[in-house]
Amino acid sequence: MHSNILENKICLVTGATRGIGRTVAQKLSQMGGTVIGTGTTDRGADSISEYLREANGTGEGVKLDVTNAESVNAIAQFIEGKYGTVTILINNAGISRNNLLMRIKDEEWDEVINTNLNSVYRLCKTFIRGMIKKREGRIINISSVVGLIGNIGQVHYSAAKAGLSGFSKSLAMETASRNITVNIVAPGFIETDMTTELDQKVKDQLLSQIPAGRMGTTQEIADAVAFLVSPASSYITGTTLCVDGGMIRR
Ligand code: NAD
Repeated sequence: MHSNILENKICLVTGATRGIGRTVAQKLSQMGGTVIGTGTTDRGADSISEYLREANGTGEGVKLDVTNAESVNAIAQFIEGKYGTVTILINNAGISRNNLLMRIKDEEWDEVINTNLNSVYRLCKTFIRGMIKKREGRIINISSVVGLIGNIGQVHYSAAKAGLSGFSKSLAMETASRNITVNIVAPGFIETDMTTELDQKVKDQLLSQIPAGRMGTTQEIADAVAFLVSPASSYITGTTLCVDGGMIRR
C-alpha cells in the first residue's frame, strides 16, 4: 500500500540488495521516502536502483562497505550533495559466520564484530550530525533475538548484536531531546539467504522454539521498521521491538 508519510525524507538502508534490507527499502519507498539502498558491489547497487525505479520510487542504489570508513564518508558526501540530509537511517547490513568458539579464527571474530557492530558506530556517527542540525531523526538498528538469548555457534554474532543494545540505548538518551529516536528491531528467524545457510538440524531445532510454529517473513520485519519510522512512534526511543513469533517473552 502506497502513502506519502515519508515524503521528502531521505532514508538510508544498508545491505538492501536482498533479504530484510531489500524489503525494508521497498517499504520505505512505498511510504513515499527517497531511499538510498546500499549493496557491496556495483551490480548489487544497480539492482537496487532497478527495483526502486520499477516501483516508481525516488532514490537509488549505491555501493558501500560498512566496514570501511572511507566508503562510509564517500556515500555520506554523495547523498548530502545529491539528495540532502539523511534523517532515516536503517542499519541492516550484517553477516553471520556460524562456528563454535573453539574454532573461531581471530579474523572471523573481527569480521563479524566489524560488520555487525563497528559499522553501526561508524554510520551513526557519520549521519547523526545532520539529524541533530535538522532536529529530526530516526535510527533503526537491526539486531537479532540471538543478541538477547544467545545461540550455539554464534558467540561473535550474538556479542555484536548484544552490543547494539547498549549502543542504541545510550545514543537514544543522548539524542532524545533533539527529536531523534534510536530503536532496535530484533528479528527472530526470518526466511532469507542468511537462514537458508543453516543446516536442517539447526533449523528444526529453531522451529521447535518458535511458538508461532513458522519462520517470519521479511515483510513482517519491514512492517515493524515502518512503524518505528512513522509519526505513530514519536515517543518510543531506546527500545527493542522483537519480531519473532513469540520466541522471547520479556
Ligand atoms: P542477507 O545475508 O540476506 O543480507 C545481508 C545484507 O547485508 C546484504 O545486502 C549484504 O550485501 C549486506 N552486507 C554484508 N556485509 C556488508 C558490508 N561489509 N557492507 C555493506 N553491506 C554488507 O541477510 P538478512 O537475513 O536479510 O539480514 C539482514 C539483517 O537482519 C542482518 O543484520 C542480520 O543480522 C539480521 N537478522 C536476520 C535474521 C534472519 O533470520 N534472516 C534474524 C535476525 C537478524
